[in-house]
Amino acid sequence: MTLCHFTTPRRIRNYLLNRREFAAKTLVLQSLPPKIIFDPANVCNLRCPLCATDV
Ligand code: SF4
Repeated sequence: MTLCHFTTPRRIRNYLLNRREFAAKTLVLQSLPPKIIFDPANVCNLRCPLCATDV
């Protein structure tokens, strides 16, 4: 499977708008996030002081 298999014209338009807004440092975005990552684990070993994830 190639990247084009998952890409639609709507996603390409959103991605280009997102990159333009990022470059312009726009505060109120018109674009949707081009990528979302779900982390199924609630474990981290870095222990940042203010993090609620600290297990
Ligand atoms: S903020 Fe929390 S989850 Fe993120 S690196 Fe620090 S301890 Fe880990």
